[in-house]
Amino acid sequence: MADPPPGLSGLSTAELTTWFEARGEPAYRARQVVTALWSGGTSTHAGDLTTLPRPLAAALDEAFRWTTVADEAVIASDGGQTEKTLHRLSDGAAIESVLMRYPATSGRRARHTLCISSQAGCAVGCPFCATGELGFERDLTTAEILDQVRSAIGRLHPGERLTNIVFMGMGEPLLNLDRVLESVAALNDSDRLGLGARHITVSTSGVVPGIRRLTALGPQFTLAISIHAGRDALRDVLVPLNRRWPVAEVAAAARDHARKTGRRVSYEVTMIGGVNDTDADADALANLLRGDLAHVNLIPMNPVAHTPWNASPMPVIERFASRIRAAGIPVTIRRNRGVEIGAACGQLAAERAGAPAAPAVAWRRQRLEAASARALRGERSDEPVPVGVEA
Ligand code: SF4
Repeated sequence: MADPPPGLSGLSTAELTTWFEARGEPAYRARQVVTALWSGGTSTHAGDLTTLPRPLAAALDEAFRWTTVADEAVIASDGGQTEKTLHRLSDGAAIESVLMRYPATSGRRARHTLCISSQAGCAVGCPFCATGELGFERDLTTAEILDQVRSAIGRLHPGERLTNIVFMGMGEPLLNLDRVLESVAALNDSDRLGLGARHITVSTSGVVPGIRRLTALGPQFTLAISIHAGRDALRDVLVPLNRRWPVAEVAAAARDHARKTGRRVSYEVTMIGGVNDTDADADALANLLRGDLAHVNLIPMNPVAHTPWNASPMPVIERFASRIRAAGIPVTIRRNRGVEIGAACGQLAAERAGAPAAPAVAWRRQRLEAASARALRGERSDEPVPVGVEA
């Protein structure tokens, strides 16, 4: 089967202008199309635009797709404050985005944060993550990344606007870095979303060459590190990419990034009861980040069917936070959003892919229990580096 035409959102205004000029059309045609693409309107193809002559709209529809994502399901929770969308791609792959509404408080304006995916599936294979269970399918194109954002804009209520975009959905963004950088440039672009770099966060599980490349480019967005553990033995299990780039190397690259860009790095810890929430883990993390331009976010684990684990109890999370704070590192405890709709990355796509057979789940749980028990004794993993994580 022939490849489908590229998505229009992946083209910059300059590229679209060149396309129109090659057909003897003025540059403002490109701006008309870009404005329509990002307006959140109901158009489904260029033929819907009354501003374009019919033959030109038809040529555009033949050359490009108006959108590259089909919204297969939108599921709301938290009284409509959290909305998860399952997007189907042209080759059948499923990806997810999550829109989170944070109402205004006395000291803060309302925020609307969208969490988007950068890959279909993920090669890193973190065992607490449903996407990791799915394995890696493929990198998303720039248009597929941006069309998740356009889909969310179309679902905003009157008066709402996206204030933050986080690349924390499916996939490891730094293993698809060229397209992520193109997407960030588009989100920054005042012709398109016009979102400031400070309002865009890209999270990595620790792809050191990617972090170093970003540092050389200068500040593009807020860098977040999914750290999850400050001790190698445990991180080998929780973030298997740690077997390739150990935690001290990741922290050193992030420290360098913070120093050179002057931007605080955010460190995310999914809090798993009895696994990475001990005093020893808090102290290991505090020692790793002491003196750095860092902020730690503690997030209770979303329950995932194939793991034997659950979220740490709140008093344990608070105790962990206080030990980090005592080292002079700012900490925030994040509320878990959308637990009842499986808002953690990959859960909906995993459900649609079909539940694994019970013996496979039981075997996986046993392996995880054994691996984490070894890690808690301080033994490093002898499992290989996951295939496909080399940058
Ligand atoms: S947590 Fe992120 S890096 Fe780890 S498997 Fe899931 S999507 Fe991949």
